[in-house]
Amino acid sequence: MMYKGIIFIGITLGVLSAIIFYNMYECDEAKNKNFRSVSLHSTDKEIDLDLKMIERRTTIAGIGDILIHDRVYELAQTASGYDFTPMLQKVKPMLQAPDLLIANQETILGGEEIGISSYPSFNSPQQVGDAIVEAGIDLVSTANNHSLDKNEKGLLASLSYMDKIGLSHTGTSRSQAESEKVTTLESNGIRFAFLSYTYGTNGIPIPDGKEFLVNLINRKQMKKDIQKAKQSADVIIMSVHWGNEYERFPTVEQKELGSYLIESGADLIFGHHPHVLQPMEWHTTEDGRKGLIVYSLGNFLSGQIDDYKDLGGMTAVDVKMTMQDGSKKISLMNPQFYPTYVSKEPSQMYHVVPLLEAGQFGLRNYKAVYKEMMAHMMSSLQ
Ligand SMILES: [Zn+2]
Repeated sequence: MMYKGIIFIGITLGVLSAIIFYNMYECDEAKNKNFRSVSLHSTDKEIDLDLKMIERRTTIAGIGDILIHDRVYELAQTASGYDFTPMLQKVKPMLQAPDLLIANQETILGGEEIGISSYPSFNSPQQVGDAIVEAGIDLVSTANNHSLDKNEKGLLASLSYMDKIGLSHTGTSRSQAESEKVTTLESNGIRFAFLSYTYGTNGIPIPDGKEFLVNLINRKQMKKDIQKAKQSADVIIMSVHWGNEYERFPTVEQKELGSYLIESGADLIFGHHPHVLQPMEWHTTEDGRKGLIVYSLGNFLSGQIDDYKDLGGMTAVDVKMTMQDGSKKISLMNPQFYPTYVSKEPSQMYHVVPLLEAGQFGLRNYKAVYKEMMAHMMSSLQ
């Protein structure tokens, strides 16, 4: 029910009710002023005739790996540093549409003092962070196999830079206290908690006594964290670094852990690490709640090509929260997938482009690829 509906109710119930409704509406709007109001879908609120039910809606989305090899940062070099914003320019309208957007920052933003570097031990220019914030990313997952590529020093420098530019993060921490604090963001009156974990750190040991630096996959701990996050949030979003690289379908381990996390209270799981897209599917819990698992969101901005590694995309989901008689119900609805392609045409620059526009960027069979990727991502959803 939109604004008109609110006025109609106001007239029927009298002037006093109208004032109450108006104040409720205004109050919600004021609380939300820090968030973008542009949305893929409507972000309306409904107030039922019995005055007891309130409904809120928002859209949350996730994209895959921001993975910066030397061939990518070399092309971003300018006279005074680096500029990655042109690489995301073509997908900016798509990225700005959801209310909240989360990405996997696969490579640390450790800064030039540590030395910019590529595979196997990455340290990306910090301007990558500026570009993704500018493009509309609100939060990054930082627990992955490259979190410790430049040891503790790189991890800490990366987090400090993210804080400096107002980019929220989850998965790595500077202290025990920070690791115990749940990262949350609010959108349209719905509060989201973000948790992130990785299978490992490429054999680089986590320093003794500093296990807080990187969150590792551990069922017991993850369940505990979900339960804790539920105390300060309405919706639990998890980023999990798992699976096998370059495999297009999830392993049995991914499937089992995904189901376990939804059963434990998670609402939405964004998977990363395979560098290629893996399908998304619903998991309905024993008590009838529906959670969504996206097994892998693939690469989003990377210099990897061939065998599906240059294809990625954005998964967007509508979230509805209904409050009635003191109880809250969360529903995830209408999952959508917007596939993307990384092109090096024209002008020797990496561009992330919507797959449907990739014909202009050198991908001649883009229509067939689009059909294939949509079926790949969406067909397990029923
Ligand atoms: Zn990885």
